[in-house]
Amino acid sequence: MTKNHNHMVGFDLDQTIIYSKRTNFPDKTPITCVEIYEDAPLSYMTQKAWETLGVLMEKTEVFPITTRTEAQYKRVTLPQQPRYAICGNGGILLEDGVRNKEWEIWVNGILEQNVPVKQILDFTINEFDVEWTKKVSAPEDLFVCIVGKEGTIPNQKWVEQYTQGMNEHGWTVSAQGRKVYAVPGGLTKGAAVSKLKNMLKETSPEPERFSVYTAGDSLLDASMLEVADEAIHPAHGELHKHKWSSSQTRTTTNKGVLAGEEIIDWMLNQVS
Ligand SMILES: [Mg+2]
Repeated sequence: MTKNHNHMVGFDLDQTIIYSKRTNFPDKTPITCVEIYEDAPLSYMTQKAWETLGVLMEKTEVFPITTRTEAQYKRVTLPQQPRYAICGNGGILLEDGVRNKEWEIWVNGILEQNVPVKQILDFTINEFDVEWTKKVSAPEDLFVCIVGKEGTIPNQKWVEQYTQGMNEHGWTVSAQGRKVYAVPGGLTKGAAVSKLKNMLKETSPEPERFSVYTAGDSLLDASMLEVADEAIHPAHGELHKHKWSSSQTRTTTNKGVLAGEEIIDWMLNQVS
């Protein structure tokens, strides 16, 4: 099958396409393990979603775009290795599994215009109650990630205060279960999708018809849903909780792992 170069499809991984072992999986739906961590299965998608994704990847340029670090991303198995993958919330472009240097220069330019990540990390640890957390770190030196102890999620008040503190420094916050992310202004999935689009459009046979489709579940995904021609988000997760909407974004009918399957079906429909 020849790939159609008039489209690109970008999707977030966790809670959009792949689902952790903590998810309630529906009975009788066959699932496939897509991530092994420390010798144990960690993430899954439905068998049908896996098969449809395989077809989609044959048909068009599909790229994962995730907040995961490069190492965390590389634990995930997809039906084939995508040519492009974006990690670190837009901070890293992997091309055939290798970091793209020009992308790094672009990202460094964005970081230079922001309060340094080290300073934000110290500010987080020193100025906010992090007693409830297991770990506060700066993955890939790109952003701050706070992970709550097992079974602990931050209270709403804490998230609000932290968001305000970060906003005052030009950073934004996303709370996803027991994880809270603070990311520098300008380093967004939306900016990354737009940049990749410009790169791919150049080689498209009909650049004026080039279309972008994206999917994601969290506030960190909102910017990439907004820059797409059409987008979709699952009927669960942070965006759903915040009743977020945009004119080009639809919501799935299903929730959980079946929403993941529905998203891939929808993507295939768009590019067929
Ligand atoms: Mg997600």
